Parts: sequence; C-alpha cells; structure tokens
Amino acid sequence: MIESSSTHNSPTILPGTNPVVIVGAGPGGSVAALALARQGIRSVVVDKATFPRPKPCGDVITSQTLRVLERLGLDPSNNLPLVRAQATWGTTCIAPNGKAVDVSFKPLHKETEIPSCYTLQRASFDNYLVEQLRANPLIELREGVGVKDAQHVDQQWQINMADGTNLPDTKLLLLASGCNSSLARQISNQSLPAIAKEDDRHFGVGLRGYFRDKGGWRQAGMPEFYIMRELMPGGLYLTPLANGLVNVNMVMRRDYVLKNGINLRDRFWEVLASHPTLSKRFAPDTLEGQLQGSSLSFGTIKRGNAGNGLMMIGDAAGLIDLLSANGICNAVMSAEIAAGVAVQAIQHQDYSMAFLGNYDSLLDQKLGNELKLGRLVSPFLGNERLFGLFEGVLNFVASRVQGGSVLSQLLYHPDVSKLLRSPSFYKQMVWG
Ligand SMILES: Cc1cc2nc3c(=O)[nH]c(=O)nc-3n(C[C@H](O)[C@H](O)[C@H](O)COP(=O)(O)OP(=O)(O)OC[C@H]3O[C@@H](n4cnc5c(N)ncnc54)[C@H](O)[C@@H]3O)c2cc1C
Repeated sequence: MIESSSTHNSPTILPGTNPVVIVGAGPGGSVAALALARQGIRSVVVDKATFPRPKPCGDVITSQTLRVLERLGLDPSNNLPLVRAQATWGTTCIAPNGKAVDVSFKPLHKETEIPSCYTLQRASFDNYLVEQLRANPLIELREGVGVKDAQHVDQQWQINMADGTNLPDTKLLLLASGCNSSLARQISNQSLPAIAKEDDRHFGVGLRGYFRDKGGWRQAGMPEFYIMRELMPGGLYLTPLANGLVNVNMVMRRDYVLKNGINLRDRFWEVLASHPTLSKRFAPDTLEGQLQGSSLSFGTIKRGNAGNGLMMIGDAAGLIDLLSANGICNAVMSAEIAAGVAVQAIQHQDYSMAFLGNYDSLLDQKLGNELKLGRLVSPFLGNERLFGLFEGVLNFVASRVQGGSVLSQLLYHPDVSKLLRSPSFYKQMVWG
C-alpha cells in the first residue's frame, strides 16, 4: 500500500491562523502544503490544471528529492516503484567526440542499498504527490481553475480566480506557479523589492518527446546525457522509463536560441536524424504523442524571492541547475524551507518582508552549493568562442580512464568551488 504522509504525526492546528494559499500543485507547491500540514498548518492549494497532467521534463528524480519525501514521512523506495518509478544507479555522459563516461550514483544512505535516483514520468510523479494532498485533512485542493491575479491590500492577499470566484484572503501566499508564470510576474512586481531584470541568459527552453524504446543503451537502465556542438549551450538527455518508453529531451539557453533564430523543434529532429546511433533509435514514427515544450528558469543569478506576505518556490523562484537541468530537487527543497519560515511567521504573526527575508538567506545557504557550478560557468557558456575550449575539456575528460570519478567528484563534493581551486583535482584529471 502507498504510504500517505497524513498517517504520520498527528498535527495540532494552530488557533487563529488563516489558511496559507499556495498557487501551483507541482512538486514545489505540493511539498510546501505537505510540510505545512505536518506542522499543523492549513493550506489551500490551487492549480489551473487537473491532475494527472503532463509536464515537459527529463523525468529524473534525484537524491535530494527522495530525502525531502522521506522527511515528509513518504517512503520513496517503497512508494515510488508502486507508481512505476524505475531505480537508476548512474548516468552516462557522452562527450562531443562520442566518448562516453559512466558516472555512478551512491546509495541514498551510506549503510543501505536504497537507490538515490529514479526515473518516472512527471504526470505520475506529480499525481502521486497530489494524491497525498487529497488525502490530507489540513489541505484543500482546488484543481482545474487558475489564479487570475492577486493584490496585497492591508497586509492581506486578495486573490481572484480565472472563473470569477475568490479565494479566502490570506496573510501568506506561496507562489509555486512554475517558470514563465505571468501570475508570478504580476505578483512579484508589486511585492518584491528589486527583482533582477529578466535576462535571457538565465532562462532555457526545452522540448520533450516520448519514444518507443528500441534499445541501444550503453548501460541498461541508465539515462544518457549527450553534449554536442549543435546544442551548446545545452544538451540532449535520454531517460529510460519502466513503461517501455524513452523520454528524449533537449534543453538550450534562451539567449542563444533567440540570438541565432533557432527553431527548437527543427533542431531536435536535425540532431536526432544526423547522429550515427540516435538516428536508428529515435525515428519520428516511434514518437508516442506530441513533442511538448517548456521554459526553464536557471539559478544562475540570485533573485529576491521573499516579499511582504510572499515567498516564491521552485521554478517561480528560478532555481533550476544550469548544468543538469534538474529543478525538481530545488523546487521541493525550497518548498520545505519556505514551509519552515512560514511556521515561524505564523508563530510570530509577522509576515513582513523583513521577517520572510530569512527565506532568501536559507535558500542561499542550503541550495548555494547545488547551484554554484552553474553560476561559475554560466558567464563563459554564453561565449561562442569558448565552445571549442569546452569541447576540448569534455573530450579530454571523457577519454580518461578516471573520467567518471572526476565527474562524480563534481556531483558529490560538499564545496564545488573549493574543489575547482584544488590542484589535486586537475592532477587526478590528467594523470588519473
Ligand atoms: C525539458 C526539461 C527537462 C527537465 N528535466 C528535469 C529532470 O530530469 N529532473 C529535474 O529535477 N528537473 C527537470 N526539469 C525541471 C523541472 O521540470 C522543474 O524544475 C520542476 O517542474 C519545477 O517544479 P515546480 O513545482 O516549481 O513547477 P511546475 O512543476 O511547473 O508546477 C507549476 C504548477 O503551477 C500551475 N500554475 C501555473 N500558473 C498557475 C495559475 N495562474 N494558477 C494556478 N495554477 C497555476 C501549473 O499548472 C503547474 O501545475 C526539466 C525541465 C524541462 C523543461
């Protein structure tokens, strides 16, 4: 049986608290509601979609997400396989010269053999979380109607729905409405102090299609990540799924796409058709359904994500890692942090930006290392003259016997910038 988070702890409802309103029931919004419920805080979660709903993604669920689920009392190693998640123990990176490096993942906990990564279609993963919302008496879920706009008046949010109805006023709004959300722009303009001007370097565009699996994997069950000149700055990812489909997805930085007038769909098919092995594995007639596109908001700049009565979560806060395109983990981690700050705000009855600003500091402390490498390399990735240098470094690393352990250090080191300043890291890269 799938475990429900509502079966853990018996929360005490704090007296005199209005429900927190959460916009968006993706991983960020759902986890925020579940984390609040575990502290006895009621919430209303609204999503314009009805679940299960599709979401363009690479469908890779990484260790940080699994740890958050564990802390919510949801046991991912038991529950996720029941919704057809498939454990994976590593990933293969294919350099521009076609040389491949396998990077192994460590188990979730040192002393066990619990997997630290799963692949699972987002429609199923997000629906699994939404089922937890439905089962929780402290959470009211409203699906199928979006929030049109919201005004902050007399320290309360007045929220208007697209169908003309209203939500109850709230002192605290958690915005988890994803990337490129017009609502997030409308709200942040009135509540956040100084948001960074939208800059295409900090955004990406992505496409995803599900293909019938014709095999050809370098390692059975392991996602493959292709870095190619035609996709720089960006990459192509293949994710094997338990249901016999392969998620083929591609991400590129938006500034480069716009500057060069790239049509993403054309580029997607060109890359597949011209590749010596991918062309045999992913012909257009093996595509199931349609290609679907989506934006990505990279955590390559620090944004202010707390305002008066407001915290932004996940993609709405711009927290996707530039190098891996992983954003689910930072969405759920930011949700957990926001819920913690919300509990304190409710206890102190202080919803001011000064108080909620603690959220921004905690985001920086807890996600800073995750996002550091992306922030370090981002300025160079925009420079086309450096593409050749990048290609050279990647080809070199992929050709080394120790290539996998070099990449694995980048994945697991507690302080990536310290690692990159260490001569022994480069010594190991060159001599093994
Ligand atoms: C091609 C591609 C590949 C990716 N691959 C991966 C990967 O493999 N692993 C990974 O970790 N991340 C990946 N990501 C990133 C990941 O998809 C996001 O970071 C993640 O979905 C963020 O979750 P979220 O809850 O913040 O937002 P979302 O999942 O986008 O949820 C936002 C929700 O808000 C709702 N909403 C929006 N506006 C309104 C409104 N006005 N009113 C009510 N509801 C509203 C939407 O319907 C939606 O359900 C990928 C992204 C792309 C585009």
